[in-house]
Amino acid sequence: MALSAKAVPQTIPRIAPREDLNIFRISQIQFDIAAEHLKLDAGLRQVLRTPKRVMEVSVPTKMDNGQVKVFSGYRVQHNIARGPAKGGVRYHPGVTLDEVKALAMWMTWKTAAVNIPFGGAKGGIICDPKRMSKSELERMTRRYTSEILPIIGPARDIPAPDVYTDSQTMAWMMDTYSMVVGYSSLGSVTGKPVSLGGSEGRNEATARGCLFVTEEACKVKKLNFRGATVAIQGFGNAGSIAARLFTEKKAKVIAISDSRGGVYNTRGIDPYKAARYKERSGTVVGMAGTSRISNDDLLTMKCDILIPAALENVITLNNADQIKAKIIAEAANGPTTPHADEALAKRGVMVLPDILANSGGVTTSYFEWVQDLQNFFWTETEVNAKLETVMKRAFHEVHENSRKHHVHMRTAAYILAVGRVADATIVRGLFP
Ligand code: GLU
Repeated sequence: MALSAKAVPQTIPRIAPREDLNIFRISQIQFDIAAEHLKLDAGLRQVLRTPKRVMEVSVPTKMDNGQVKVFSGYRVQHNIARGPAKGGVRYHPGVTLDEVKALAMWMTWKTAAVNIPFGGAKGGIICDPKRMSKSELERMTRRYTSEILPIIGPARDIPAPDVYTDSQTMAWMMDTYSMVVGYSSLGSVTGKPVSLGGSEGRNEATARGCLFVTEEACKVKKLNFRGATVAIQGFGNAGSIAARLFTEKKAKVIAISDSRGGVYNTRGIDPYKAARYKERSGTVVGMAGTSRISNDDLLTMKCDILIPAALENVITLNNADQIKAKIIAEAANGPTTPHADEALAKRGVMVLPDILANSGGVTTSYFEWVQDLQNFFWTETEVNAKLETVMKRAFHEVHENSRKHHVHMRTAAYILAVGRVADATIVRGLFP
């Protein structure tokens, strides 16, 4: 492709007195490593390492006390070469534009890694949803949806849940979109309640996809999944459901945590009890029959499988060498830094990268969107079987790439994903 551009950094900087934890730069480093393997030309690299479209909106919201509060919201579309933009919406006090840009780019690679016909996008609002009432959240969600409405839609960009948003949030988004366009647009949003065109299996899909690829990784690593010990950081949608699904398949969950701290019991933790306890007390901390552990210590505790299922940058140069797990399955987006990746690979730890390990969520979002567009709905068994096929194929394609290129699983996944997006971009050509 004859696009010219300045040279871009090709590899991770060799000396890191202090690691750069800006996740947009991290996402670009990860991309650059793959671009180098693929020998992409400089112009194409510039196209793929920056978002296509960034929207920043003010979200004035009437609070329950009658006062108006203005929240900042974003929607970033990184790439639409292979299909409509796709990705979740995050509500968190720590949201930044750089974070949303990184998360949008990761969605592009994620949809390409599992080969579903979407691009990548992400949205976010800087807010503290835990301190907002349900009606405040509804008003904020509806106003945010109307602000980003010009750039979303079933053929443009399809939002979904992410950190601290759920099927109720998606129902409000779908309703707001539908009221404006004048008809019920089921395909405008995914992760909706099943009663509103949501898909069977979507709620569990991120964790189930993570389970499928971890089972395959265990076979490769010759680790017995039955009885394998599992530590899970984060007890939201992905973490809590992973605890349940891994336990059902006879792995042993020995530690779980949330934003307030963690608990462990080397004889195993009952995931159902933990979910009920968290429902009542707002945290897993203090659950009967467990001892307290910090989030930091959970990451480095003795276990076979570590599942980071919370936020970014938790596995860094600071703790990578202390990690004892044999497999890390990234249910969260961006939990591991590039320097930590290298340190872990050196020690033979297999990292199942986010764009593979948590892609079950968006894969089932794709199934939901297809069902919505066809008005023809599948059973949970059908959905899960299709998910299993997609996840296992993606795992083996990535693993094959890892052997072929002598790279760790993240770079292997990037080579696969970036290669697909690059091919689509080249064959489409540059407009005008
Ligand atoms: N937010 C999820 C993710 O990071 C799901 C995105 C989707 O279903 O579109 O993959």
